Amino acid sequence: MTSWRKRLRRRLPASLKARMSVVVFLLVLGAVALLALATLAVAERGMRDVTGRQQYVSLSSAAVFIDEELDAKRNVLRVVADSLAAGGAHDEASLQRFLAAQTVLASEFYSAGVVAADGVLLASVSPFKAQAGMSLKGRPYFEQTLATRRSVISAPLNGSISGMPIVVVTQPVFDAHGGVRYVLAASVNLRQPDFLGRLDALKPGKGGYLYIMTNEGVIVEHPDKSRIMQHIEANGPISLPTRRAMQGFEGWMAGTTAQGIDALFAYHRIAGTGWILASVYPMNAAFAPLHAMRSKILLAAVLLAGLAGLAGWRVVLRLLQPLERLRRQVHQIRRQRLGIEALQIERRDEIGDLSRDFYSLVAEREIAEAQTRDSERRLKLLTDHVPVVIVYIDREHRYQFINATFEKWFGRSRQESMMQSIRDVLGEEAYQLREEYLLRAFAGEEVEYEFTIEGEAGAARRAFQTSYVPDVDESGVVAGVYGLIHEITKVKAVHTALQFAAATDILTGIANRRRFDEQLAQSMQRTRATQAPMALAYLDIDRFKAINDSLGHHAGDEVLKEFASRLARSVRASDLVARLAGDEFVIIFEGVKSAAEVRQIGAKIIDAIRAPFDLASGALPVTTSIGIAIFRAGELTPAQLLDLADQALYQAKGQGRDGVALIEAATPQ
Ligand code: GH3
Ligand code: MG
Repeated sequence: MTSWRKRLRRRLPASLKARMSVVVFLLVLGAVALLALATLAVAERGMRDVTGRQQYVSLSSAAVFIDEELDAKRNVLRVVADSLAAGGAHDEASLQRFLAAQTVLASEFYSAGVVAADGVLLASVSPFKAQAGMSLKGRPYFEQTLATRRSVISAPLNGSISGMPIVVVTQPVFDAHGGVRYVLAASVNLRQPDFLGRLDALKPGKGGYLYIMTNEGVIVEHPDKSRIMQHIEANGPISLPTRRAMQGFEGWMAGTTAQGIDALFAYHRIAGTGWILASVYPMNAAFAPLHAMRSKILLAAVLLAGLAGLAGWRVVLRLLQPLERLRRQVHQIRRQRLGIEALQIERRDEIGDLSRDFYSLVAEREIAEAQTRDSERRLKLLTDHVPVVIVYIDREHRYQFINATFEKWFGRSRQESMMQSIRDVLGEEAYQLREEYLLRAFAGEEVEYEFTIEGEAGAARRAFQTSYVPDVDESGVVAGVYGLIHEITKVKAVHTALQFAAATDILTGIANRRRFDEQLAQSMQRTRATQAPMALAYLDIDRFKAINDSLGHHAGDEVLKEFASRLARSVRASDLVARLAGDEFVIIFEGVKSAAEVRQIGAKIIDAIRAPFDLASGALPVTTSIGIAIFRAGELTPAQLLDLADQALYQAKGQGRDGVALIEAATPQ
């Protein structure tokens, strides 16, 4: 969009009604104004031609009128001349009397005189006293009268008697021989409103004016009397039409005055004198009615446009009424004061389309919202009832989400813990334990750790396992961490039980072969490290097969149990007693001092077994043989050490049973 359109849009009012009104107003105003101005322009051009022509025509009549007026003055002079010629010889006094008797002269002229052919003024009637013996000899109009023997009208001149700007009209008076006897000379005062003054009535109209100048440009008559007798160019350059008139143009034309005013000019020559009669009619004045009409039409256009704008506003208001109602309804629907059924979806116009679309939009949104609500409810139900604590931890290590299980298990209020930091909720110590895992999770790693809580009031200790799962957003940043905590107390217990079971001999309840194997390797390792010797005793019940055979397998089992029990009681708690298989048992002694001490322990066990076994079938004497291997250091394997103990046992059996044999494992030098 171009910038002016943007600007226009910004300036237009926001409401559609107001916009429409403004647009209609502007369009109507533009159309009417354009039409009116175009019509007026055409009319003005037509009117200019008519006015110009009219101006010229009336100027022509004025020229004829002036010509006739001048002729009338000449005729007066001719009549006077005729009556003067008819008289005989005159002296100056009789001439003066004659002249004074010619009252018509006073009404037509400013002054009049009788001049002799030699130019001497013989008699005169004038507002001023004429100089005696004054001569007109040499004056152009006088000489011309003599030369042409005809009436002459002079150029404007300053009267020698009155000092006034005048025009002189002459008439020769002939004698009987046809010679010029006198010359009658009468003046017209150009400053006096006589026939020229009446020119005012002939001016082209209000604001226009007429003036007369000679062919040479000397002003004869002008509304500005001070310009009379002056040259037309005395005040500066003249207009183009005037220049053309001086070059001979007659007619009318449009042009510009020397003062820069547009005007209609008309020029016509006065036949008798060759003077130029000019009229100037400023356009402003000539077209004043037209211009007045233009203002009125423009005013009417504004009014019309205003009315049209108002009508437009009304129409749009009417058209927009349903839209306005829809807007109100939508507003109410948003505030839930109205259901969407209120929308007029059955309308067949654009408002109906809009309503239907809006209806669908709202309906779809309501369904979507209901679905979201449902799924949120389901999720909440799920998270609150799973036997797992679910939390969401933000980058500041605050709980942003906590499920109900958290409250149930840890007895801490969910509401109070929400948006609190782990440090504040669990305490500094618990936080320290978790911080490392949290930092790893925020670095993007999935981490797991276990922790335990002491049971309250004698309840068993509870074990938990936490998984931290980083919540990585689209940009790869870890926005938070999900914490999933499940209780593993039971699993732990089962695990411990299994571990125990796996290491225990079922019949006797002491350690089994598996446990023994583990322990022996570790003990040998420790022996090498501490350099405190160890002993491994290998025991076998003497003639056990005979007990089984005579008293039964069950009695045999009882003997095995009692035997194990007596062994366990004979040694330190730190010594490991295990059953390898059948009637074979082993004992690991760590940190023994000497072979003598080992022998003593062996003897003590022999003694402990010798006391008769108290069976259901009665008392039973039982003995055992013990082979002991002592280990101090070196690369001996557990199997090799066991083998040494077995060899010692073999010796003990060979020496008649119920005794101890001892072998020292070789110690590397
Ligand atoms: P010796 O003095 O040479 O050791 O003679 P002995 O009869 O004890 O011979 P030996 O140690 O080889 O015999 C072990 C017997 O133990 C063989 C087997 O029938 C018996 N036996 C093995 N396991 C069990 C068991 O779990 N219960 C019972 N009652 N008898 C067992
Ligand atoms: Mg035996």
